[in-house]
Amino acid sequence: MKIGVLALQGDFIEHEHMLARLGAEPIEVRLPRDLEGLDGLIMPGGESTTFGKLAKQFGLVEPLRAFAQSGRPMWGTCAGLIFLAKDVGRNQVTLGLMDVKVKRNAFGRQIDSFTCDLNIPDLADGPFPGVFIRAPIIESVGQTVQVLCTLDDGTIVAARQDNLLATSFHPELTHDSRMHALFLRACKRGSLSCEL
Ligand code: GLN
Repeated sequence: MKIGVLALQGDFIEHEHMLARLGAEPIEVRLPRDLEGLDGLIMPGGESTTFGKLAKQFGLVEPLRAFAQSGRPMWGTCAGLIFLAKDVGRNQVTLGLMDVKVKRNAFGRQIDSFTCDLNIPDLADGPFPGVFIRAPIIESVGQTVQVLCTLDDGTIVAARQDNLLATSFHPELTHDSRMHALFLRACKRGSLSCEL
């Protein structure tokens, strides 16, 4: 299975390592033609304003929207989640695909980064290690968005809408491959919806 990883900036290599470990073929996406023949696409952590600027410069914004419209699974982690969102509370280029309102840098600055155990009902075998680095939160979701994970205080940190998956945290920076495995199963089925 060929899984694209948006490779404009950020921690795309870590996603590639995780995908390769699980037997998928990671493909770096920098130009529209790199999207051909992919079974799914991951947008990594990094700096969402930089994603926006470079995606615009490389003519990727519309092709990425078309990729999502094709129904193939698409997953954004951290900055990738921001890049997927419809509302980020400020003027920056995003794909505007997922009906969520996001607050960037919601836990503070880089120094306020943290890890914590997450309870993700869709994952068996215990808590998932949540790595939050200058992470966003999802402040509110539209009617067709399913919340997948919240912190103890109710803060939303993972959600799904149709073929779109979004996490505030970074599974690619852990040794736990369960989220990637779940995404790959969805790519194989061609849909995120049945399992999640
Ligand atoms: N703070 C970054 C942003 O706003 C996201 C950080 C990350 O991806 N770890 O885009």
